[in-house]
Amino acid sequence: MSISALALALFTAQPVPSYDLVIRNVAIASPERDAVLTGQSVRIRDGRIVEIGDSPMRVSEGEAVLEGEGRFLAPGLTDSHHHVSFVPGMGAVGLPPATEHPELVAAYMAQQPRSLLYHGVTQILDPSPLTGWEAFTDQPQHPDLLRCGEVPGPHDGYPVNQRAGQNPEDAYPYDIDTPEDAAPVIARMQADGAICVKVYLENGFGAASVWPLMSDATLDAIKAEASARNMPVLVHANAIDMYEIALDHELGVMAHGLWNWQWPEGEPPVVETLDRVIAGDVGYMPTLRVMAGLADHVRPGSLDNPDLEPVTPRDLMDFYREGGADWFADELASDFPADMPREEIADIFGLGVQRGQRALAYLHGQGHPVMLASDCPGSPTAINQPGLCTVLEMEAMAAAGMSARDILRSGTLSIAEQFGLEAEYGRIAPGFVANLVLLEENPFESVRAWRSLDVVILRGEVIERDSLRAR
Ligand SMILES: [Zn+2]
Repeated sequence: MSISALALALFTAQPVPSYDLVIRNVAIASPERDAVLTGQSVRIRDGRIVEIGDSPMRVSEGEAVLEGEGRFLAPGLTDSHHHVSFVPGMGAVGLPPATEHPELVAAYMAQQPRSLLYHGVTQILDPSPLTGWEAFTDQPQHPDLLRCGEVPGPHDGYPVNQRAGQNPEDAYPYDIDTPEDAAPVIARMQADGAICVKVYLENGFGAASVWPLMSDATLDAIKAEASARNMPVLVHANAIDMYEIALDHELGVMAHGLWNWQWPEGEPPVVETLDRVIAGDVGYMPTLRVMAGLADHVRPGSLDNPDLEPVTPRDLMDFYREGGADWFADELASDFPADMPREEIADIFGLGVQRGQRALAYLHGQGHPVMLASDCPGSPTAINQPGLCTVLEMEAMAAAGMSARDILRSGTLSIAEQFGLEAEYGRIAPGFVANLVLLEENPFESVRAWRSLDVVILRGEVIERDSLRAR
């Protein structure tokens, strides 16, 4: 549909913006179905799907009409690992260098939800939203925000040691120092709206392993209290030894893929660990964009990527082009010989992506469900812009061998099932939240279909994609 036809339909049929809507003659591509269902009509009222049928639907007064002919209607994506309080190329809001550029941070925060919607992401789960997530939900159009409560762990360990100069009490409202703290803190977390608990198992990056971890007794107390409250525990871990600790404590969801292992000949040495993931029915977030983002950030010329323009505020793009985010590339390169070309450093980070893809291919090949999860921006990487990053994550999953339909499932049903949201999100069926996308191409056939997005429907509100572009 052209913009003018849509505008006319909205204008004539909808005198008040109640977002009641009929989508006519559309092909439904929803992951609970084996095949695309053509010639369907979908009625939306008060932000939810109320009726689906293959006969022409009568349009009542006050309802808008969206002609879907030749398009595919899919559920909006959930990115189950996105950080709302981190700025690409800067890092955490509230810490330098972000504090030195308040106008750029404000421009980013205004564009962030729009960029997610621009790429069809209508729900995000933020495992560690810190204290400033209302800056996301205060924006006029934003994906539904689901969040965990973040338990920082020992204050001389990760992630507290990444926030030099900041009082941990200010950044982390859900500190758990002893097993006795778990019950009251997790109760408060849930009362505040968190649906999950995030913990960290990280003893150092790369070959280093010097940072302290949470005690076994505290991990067990967190697991027991979270389970009693039906809150999944998300674990930051990406190395075999850290994975094994999480599996020993039956913590639940691995918030990162398993990529931190040596590159072997033949069979990956991670199969035993991955078999435990399968046997324990443990949730798995591949987060391939973590290492891919690092590779992109040090690779010369990556800012020329035209995909950045629709999702990055112009002033922030200028800031990157003028070298504003080079500090992080220099920091990454400082771990390598001074004369090593940046391209070569990028390729070394790329090996981490390949290891993550091999682990993903193994799990997927065994029929283990995985969740779409980009962990963006994760590190202060300029390329990991919201929304774009989710689509790049899906393309990396496709490159690992997953089918387009399985990837759609990973970004919809699989996440809803893991987090107890299966009555709300993930399907196109009566009663479900009307967070939907209209695509020009078939998302069952190719993951490239997500690049053909035309219209986003957010709780029944029709949003033309072009209106979401960064300025
Ligand atoms: Zn993360």
